[in-house]
Amino acid sequence: MDDKLLEIQGRIQKAAEAAGRAPEDIQLIGVSKTVDAERINAMIDRGLARIGENRVQELLSKLPELHPVEVHLIGQLQSNKVHQIVDKVALIHSLDRLSLMEEIQRQAAKRDIVMPVLIEINIGREQTKGGLMEEDLPAFLDRVVDCPNLEVRGLMCIAPPVADPEAARPYFTRMRELAEGIRGQHDSRIQMAHLSMGMSHDFEAAIREGATMVRVGRALFGARA
Ligand SMILES: *Cc1c(COP(=O)(O)O)cnc(C)c1O
Repeated sequence: MDDKLLEIQGRIQKAAEAAGRAPEDIQLIGVSKTVDAERINAMIDRGLARIGENRVQELLSKLPELHPVEVHLIGQLQSNKVHQIVDKVALIHSLDRLSLMEEIQRQAAKRDIVMPVLIEINIGREQTKGGLMEEDLPAFLDRVVDCPNLEVRGLMCIAPPVADPEAARPYFTRMRELAEGIRGQHDSRIQMAHLSMGMSHDFEAAIREGATMVRVGRALFGARA
């Protein structure tokens, strides 16, 4: 595990440079699901600034033990759990339905905060995955105007599993095009500054297509049990 963080940071930098982008524009989110607090802390102490967790229960149980770190909620989120995390995470990556939008709005308003979110797109149109279909995005964005305590920062996707990361590239391209199409057309609270895409096996391809956040688990922390 020793040099994994440096190794991934180096790969991010290379991919950014190959794409003519500034490495600082790409945030590494260390996906720490199933990893215990001690190992996460070791990575934080080495310089990991952001972690991503999938499950609310797991996140809440580890959080009190963690060293200071920015926490992102990246997994599917049940509406009845929103109140438990809305003031504990920096960004929710997985907004994918109206009922969830309304609950985040309600819970953020209660605490008088503005909750940053990404909208998850089911870019591969996979039955097994969450996320909005891209054609539903414009109507979904129109509803954000009714949610003053919610701020859309961009889009997120999980590309379909493919053997060759280059085969995932067209999905990332499509995500970039979607974000570009939205930019400037909507309410000022809808920003498209961020594209959260790319995981252990395909983050370099995602960076080539404009990812600003890559969510890396196994390549950083090792294989999950
Ligand atoms: C697990 C997970 C990741 C990280 O996957 P790895 O293949 O371990 O890098 C990224 N994003 C989401 C939403 C995940 O659930």
